[in-house]
Amino acid sequence: MASNDRKPLISGNWKMNHNHFEAIQTIQKLAYALDKDDYQAVDVSVHPPFTDLRSVQTVIQADDIPVALGAQNVHQAANGAFTGEISPTMLQKLDVTYVIVGHSERRELFGETDEIVNAKAKAVLAAGMTPIVCCGETLAERNAGHAESKVAGQISGSLAGLDAVTIGDLVIAYEPIWAIGTGETATPDDAQQMCAHIRSLVMSEWGSTTAASVRIQYGGSVKPGNASELMGQPDIDGALVGGASLDAGDFARIVKFPLYQA
Ligand code: PEP
Repeated sequence: MASNDRKPLISGNWKMNHNHFEAIQTIQKLAYALDKDDYQAVDVSVHPPFTDLRSVQTVIQADDIPVALGAQNVHQAANGAFTGEISPTMLQKLDVTYVIVGHSERRELFGETDEIVNAKAKAVLAAGMTPIVCCGETLAERNAGHAESKVAGQISGSLAGLDAVTIGDLVIAYEPIWAIGTGETATPDDAQQMCAHIRSLVMSEWGSTTAASVRIQYGGSVKPGNASELMGQPDIDGALVGGASLDAGDFARIVKFPLYQA
C-alpha cells in the first residue's frame, strides 16, 4: 500500500447495468465476500443506477454493511423543470455518500463541460456529499503529448472556486479514456506519473496540506489481476472500477488488494 495516511477508496461504477433485483443480489454477495479487515484497510463504495439506489440503501442499512452508497451522476440544480434529472438533495436523502461527476462517458456522450462538472461538484458538496471528480485524456491527446495539459485544464476547470480544505477532502479519479472498458490498462508507471502530476497541480494551486490529503483514484480496466500493482503506486489512493465491479467476487478481490501486496 502507498506509504501515506490516505485510506484507499475502491469504488464500483455499475454504469447502466443491474436492475434492482440484480443490485440487491450483488450488494449481498459483496457483503458476504468482505470482512472487517477489508473495511479497516480500504473504503468501499458502490454506484448503482438511480433506479437501484433505494433498494441497495435498504440492504446496506438493514444488514449494517460498511459499504458507502454512491451515485453515478447528479444535476447541479436543487429542483425545478429538468425532466429526467435527479437533484443532490434527492441523493442525500437516500444516504448517498459519494457522487461521481464528470465521468468521461458523461463528458463525451452527454456534452458535459468543465463548467458543468464544476457546478455539479459544488452542488454535491453543498448537499453534504463527496464528489469523485473524473479527468483523463483520449488516446489521440496522449499520442500528441497533450495528456498532462488536458488533465491540468480539467482539474483547474472542474475544481475552480473550491477552497483548499474542501479539495483536500474530495476524491479525484484519473481515468485515461483509452483505458475505460477497453481492457487496456495504463501501466502502473504511467498511472503513477499522471496521478503524481495531478497531486503536483493540486499542490501548486491549493498547497501542500491539500495535496497530501486529496485522494486520487486510478480508473481504466482495473481487475483482480492488476489491482495490487496499481494500488502499490505512491500517488494512487484507490480505484474507480467499471466492468469488474459488476461481479461481486471480482470486485471483492480488487478490494482485497492489500492481501496481495508484498
Ligand atoms: C469506469 O467506468 O470508470 C471504468 C474505469 O470502467 P472499466 O473499469 O470498465 O474500464
